[in-house]
Amino acid sequence: MKSSEKLRTFHRTWYNSSIMKKYNNRVGNGKEDLLKLCTLSGTTEIGRNSNFIQYKDEIIMIDAGYSFPGQEMYGIDYLIPNTKYLKKQKKNIKAILITHGHLDHIGALRWILPELDYPPIYAGGFAKSLIEAKMKEYKLEKKVKIYGVDRKSQIQIGKYFKATFVGINHSIPDAFSIFIQSPRGNIFFSGDFKFDLTPANEPQSDYEKLKSLRGRVDLALIESTNATVPGRAPSEKMISENLLEIISKQKGRVIVSAFSSLITRLYSLIDIAKKTNRKVLLAGRSLDLAIKIARENGYIKVEDNLFIKDKDINKYPDNQLLILCTGSQGERFAVLNRISLNEHRNIRIKRGDLVIMSSSEIPENISNIERMTDRLISLGAELMKDTVNMKIHSTGHGNQEDIRAMVEFIRPKYVMPIHGSLTFRYFNKQNLEKWGINPNNILLTDDGQVWEYSNWQWKRGKNIESKPILIDGLGVGDIGDMVLKDRKQLAEYGIFSVILNLSANTHKILGKPKFLSRGFIYFKNSQSLLKEITNTIFDEHRTWLSNEQNRAKPDYDKFKESLEKSLAKLIYKKTEREPIIMVSMI
Ligand SMILES: [Zn+2]
Ligand SMILES: [Zn+2]
Repeated sequence: MKSSEKLRTFHRTWYNSSIMKKYNNRVGNGKEDLLKLCTLSGTTEIGRNSNFIQYKDEIIMIDAGYSFPGQEMYGIDYLIPNTKYLKKQKKNIKAILITHGHLDHIGALRWILPELDYPPIYAGGFAKSLIEAKMKEYKLEKKVKIYGVDRKSQIQIGKYFKATFVGINHSIPDAFSIFIQSPRGNIFFSGDFKFDLTPANEPQSDYEKLKSLRGRVDLALIESTNATVPGRAPSEKMISENLLEIISKQKGRVIVSAFSSLITRLYSLIDIAKKTNRKVLLAGRSLDLAIKIARENGYIKVEDNLFIKDKDINKYPDNQLLILCTGSQGERFAVLNRISLNEHRNIRIKRGDLVIMSSSEIPENISNIERMTDRLISLGAELMKDTVNMKIHSTGHGNQEDIRAMVEFIRPKYVMPIHGSLTFRYFNKQNLEKWGINPNNILLTDDGQVWEYSNWQWKRGKNIESKPILIDGLGVGDIGDMVLKDRKQLAEYGIFSVILNLSANTHKILGKPKFLSRGFIYFKNSQSLLKEITNTIFDEHRTWLSNEQNRAKPDYDKFKESLEKSLAKLIYKKTEREPIIMVSMI
């Protein structure tokens, strides 16, 4: 047999072999037979997380979080993932899987569930309780189907999917990575994670299960929050030991501000209060709820009498008090800021108080935080912040070495950095390359991007609508770009209104135009501008009337429109401002 013939025979045999059949089977035959992933929302930032995967007529969503609006989005409370595509397919949505109970992963459920006809939710115990509390608040609890999962859970979903929950450490109990198998490929979602060798009150991440996924992960979506920070994320145990050392030495009251979402820290602080014989005053609604759920779940086990009400604060000696409060970011109405402004009902700073900021500083809040701590110090408090020498805060998100360990445990074929702005995902990609992952197998995605897995490769598919839905008070998606633009314009330049009295018969202007201004100009100082505005009004009116004179009834809207336009032009020319201009005719 000639060598080329030999090769052909070999290929034929190979093609018919069982391995190849399995291969063909996994690769699929047509587009509708491919495994698809859509990074719907939250990949490009921290917040509003939601992804979904689809195979044939079945869809699984992973997380449904909200995010907070930028400063220029006046009056908007939250942003939630766009559901236009999912709404059309709602009968195909088999489940929503939840990685953990932080609001950037579960916060949108109360709006999204009714729109998607309440697909069943699978969530760890802690997240389940948080979701249930929210649903009760909005009277949706009877409609929601929610199933608890734990570190042993492996769940068949629909005809095609199998989901394996892998326990990991984060900053909230019951946090999971999720591994999803389908007939055409397997996807791993890291969730928010770090590897803590000495976690505060929970087991370590399930390393064995992670290792068992080796060679089976066709794509891993991995968070990028701390992709720029070298080393390992500090352990929660170390933070807790440092806090214990500081607090046990204090003779006065201790006031600690912490994030109410960092449940592991709250556990440590309450444990420290017990050890140092201090009663705990919880100051802040979100803290109350977090501790309530942590106690109901058995994560924090303490007697009721550990906690006191703030009206009873003076019944206890200073060295028996630990005040836990919200407001580490200097938020206007949070407790610590109110204390710093002497606005709190019962808590007044006095000499001998120690304020501990057991939190990180979000960059855009730094100046607010500083103004608040300035006030606390000038009222007589001692202040302690997290420093390199004295760590009193640790992140719940893995640093570079944690991310590297994750990749080494599971050895995915493809990696997609998520949960971070492009800059952070870019650095995550650079690290991954350094650690030996083929650059072609590291995917930077966008919100709304669909990816398809065929011939062992992930390829970009179409883009679906992903513009976030704006939530303003009780309204869902009723605020569009126009309304937002108006609010921005109002906030920046105010409003200028012109009222004209037009004769019903002659359509002439009767008397003088009247002006109203809010946040735009003081009329007293703007006489010459008002004069020019008046001239423009009469010029525009004259032109309009001569154009319309042959019509039985002149077009008032046309006049209003052209007048608003020329006034905007004039005002911009004279003042470089763009107030909202409103012309009304009576
Ligand atoms: Zn989280
Ligand atoms: Zn997150």
